[in-house]
Amino acid sequence: MKQTCLLKDCSKILLTEEEIKVRVKELGEQITKDYQGKEPVMVCILKGASVFFVDLLRSINLPVRMEFMAVSSYGNSTDTSGVVRILKDLDHSVYGKDVIIVEDIVDTGLTLSYIKREMLGRGATSLAIAALLDKPERRKKPLEVDYKGFTIPNEFVVGYGLDYQERYRNMRDIGVLKEELYSK
Ligand code: 5GP
Repeated sequence: MKQTCLLKDCSKILLTEEEIKVRVKELGEQITKDYQGKEPVMVCILKGASVFFVDLLRSINLPVRMEFMAVSSYGNSTDTSGVVRILKDLDHSVYGKDVIIVEDIVDTGLTLSYIKREMLGRGATSLAIAALLDKPERRKKPLEVDYKGFTIPNEFVVGYGLDYQERYRNMRDIGVLKEELYSK
């Protein structure tokens, strides 16, 4: 299905539905290998990671648990404090569990650095990060992404869960949003 009414707002398609599908399957297979004999708790960071999350989970051949967390950053994007506010917390404790945080995109790295610290503080046995996209140019905090989909340039992207003002999340491809739409 060609989503022309969403695609017209993009200056280009960065990753097609097919490319994403292939890579997500590879990540799922890698996680399956690495967590043999374990039952990892997969934590979806809402809302952006939701589409990636369900596809990734279904590519994993292990019993996994699903948890959801919603956060919002304090201050503006230039804030280097890395403090985020938890809007929706996990339903169950991660104490003694192998945790995999699933995020849509790592940009400055502040959000994930905070969540990682928080999960380890709660007694998770191990912690890994799965992120579909990585924009290393913008990093403010060093952060290792254990399962990375794609490294992308510093452009504002939408689709496959990623939004601009809550739109485009249902786009099947990932595209670069036309600059005139957000620089107004
Ligand atoms: P950071 O790594 O800077 O703490 O924050 C990452 C969050 O910033 C992501 O979860 C996402 O919500 C948002 N973000 C960063 N870059 C982009 C982008 O190119 N497109 C969209 N839609 N959100 C982005």
